[in-house]
Amino acid sequence: MASLSAAHSGPEAEGRHFSGSSTAQGAQTAVAVQQAAGADPYFPEHGDPRYRVHRYELALDYRPGPNRLSGTARINAIAGRAPLTEFVLNLADFRIGRVRVDGRQPHYTHRGGRLRVRPAKPIRAGAAFTVEVHWSGNPKPVNSPFGGLGWEELEDGALVASQPIGAPSWYPCNDRPADKASYQISITTPSAYAVVAGGRLLTRTTKASTTTWVYEQSAPTSSYLVGLAIGKYQTVVLADPGLGGVPQHAHIPAHLLPEFSRDFARQPQMMHLFQQLFGPYPFDEYAVVVTEEELDVPVEAQGLSLFGANHVDGARGSERLVAHELAHQWFGNSVSIADWRNIWLNEGLAKYAEWLWSERSGGRSAQQLAAAAHRLLSTLPQDLRLADPGRKSMFDDRLYERGGLTVHALRCALGDDAFFRMLRAWAGLHRNGTVTTAAFASHVARFATEPVDELFRAWVHEAALPPLPGAETRAAV
Ligand SMILES: [Zn+2]
Repeated sequence: MASLSAAHSGPEAEGRHFSGSSTAQGAQTAVAVQQAAGADPYFPEHGDPRYRVHRYELALDYRPGPNRLSGTARINAIAGRAPLTEFVLNLADFRIGRVRVDGRQPHYTHRGGRLRVRPAKPIRAGAAFTVEVHWSGNPKPVNSPFGGLGWEELEDGALVASQPIGAPSWYPCNDRPADKASYQISITTPSAYAVVAGGRLLTRTTKASTTTWVYEQSAPTSSYLVGLAIGKYQTVVLADPGLGGVPQHAHIPAHLLPEFSRDFARQPQMMHLFQQLFGPYPFDEYAVVVTEEELDVPVEAQGLSLFGANHVDGARGSERLVAHELAHQWFGNSVSIADWRNIWLNEGLAKYAEWLWSERSGGRSAQQLAAAAHRLLSTLPQDLRLADPGRKSMFDDRLYERGGLTVHALRCALGDDAFFRMLRAWAGLHRNGTVTTAAFASHVARFATEPVDELFRAWVHEAALPPLPGAETRAAV
């Protein structure tokens, strides 16, 4: 995600799906989940670390007019180290039609966005099991401290942008970033609409007045990164300069095509540059969607990025965001964070990718952009620690700027050769995996000739703003 606008960083809203703190019963639930080893410290009600999912198969039917969604999920999962007497899937306030565990009817409750399932027989430790859920209703965004997230009904279609906790607005999931799974998503909707999801379009079948689109995302994907757009889009292929060969498609309202053609013209060059700097593009293809509506910020999904009409102006006014969202395919999507405390790893590297694109495409250098970011941060409160910014500040602009500056400080400390080797190795070693700040610090140390502990302490673990990196070196040259 690009940094949120001021409109989204207001006081924390009391979300419908954060009801755990508003009732005694909910509070007990929250405490119980927090006690489960590995629960996300920022969103303890999302995700269940007692099992993991390796594949979701979702068959959905969506009618845009009445905004009606019905779905069947087949979820292949594996129990953790302890036998499972119960487990939780996150799913918003839909009508539940049927739940099965390995074909048998379990006991279940569905409250506060949590589908708590107690199988007829406990599942053995480490055993594979299959859950089927049927649900239906009118999907709507999940309330969160950052505004509505997830499924959003548009004037003529729908859009899903879930970061960080919007996925349960449309399908049942183990909603934690570390639980990455493959997905097959089949969506049936009136034939006038196009359906865009991340991954490969396997089939598109029209029957009577509806069309069924089947997408396969074989790369392990965090639940929040399953993106979707349903609308009246024109599809264009972005010309590949023949370097890298990653298929790139765009889905845009026809009337925005002239502006789009200029604004996104250099995305194939970005793709080429980032493959040089970060290593091979981690997925089979890349798609962008521009919606008819305005979006506060563009949002990344797996193999897909979603932009608003306001990000297209025919003057490349949002080109840095085109670079930012593309860079998330490496940092955030392929290399994912183990829990939300580590969000700076996603956003700091995506921010730095903006600066690298600027530097390599004839714009301001990373040093100049770092200096501007440093000037800005020096005028703002210094009470945010990158390593654990707190839930309310996880999308604070300061985290993005300081994240970029921290990466710049590493580049200055390591030198370009070691720095880019370090970045490529990071993306390569942890492809499809999950990481933490501690893992990043040890990784960086392997490429440094001098210790980087002090750099990490000052930039990542403490709040005060260290001096601008690289300034002395430049002055001395
Ligand atoms: Zn971002």
